[in-house]
Amino acid sequence: MAYDDQNVFAKILRGEIPCDKVYEDEWALAFRDIAPQAPTHVLVIPKGPYVSLDDFTTQAGGDEIAGFVRAVGLVARQLGVVDPGYRILANIGPDAHQEVPHLHVHLFAGCDLGRMVKKGLV
Ligand code: AMP
Repeated sequence: MAYDDQNVFAKILRGEIPCDKVYEDEWALAFRDIAPQAPTHVLVIPKGPYVSLDDFTTQAGGDEIAGFVRAVGLVARQLGVVDPGYRILANIGPDAHQEVPHLHVHLFAGCDLGRMVKKGLV
């Protein structure tokens, strides 16, 4: 899948639409989800044009991958959610209901987050 530079997160990265920013560095931008599903719900995105984690892990350079993963941990510490814990999640493709075609890691925290996936899948 080719990267669509008109996707909403590309527009946020270019500053064309606003976001509620919580963190930014050379490799990543983190901002609050517009429709939060937990008391804390932040999205961490790489600055480069990657459709998904699959695209990122095949195309991105080592520095980008290291910088992005490090940023996810840094954001969690900055938010103060390491204790009692948080969850990260990345949707890739239609079965996972990925809506925005720019890699993003959801960071959920602030309450007991329940089970990982809905019951009854297997
Ligand atoms: P996903 O289903 O993993 O692609 O999730 C996309 C997420 O992006 C959803 O949780 C949306 O609420 C969120 N979202 C969409 N547009 C915006 C926006 N302009 N600012 C912040 N979050 C957004």
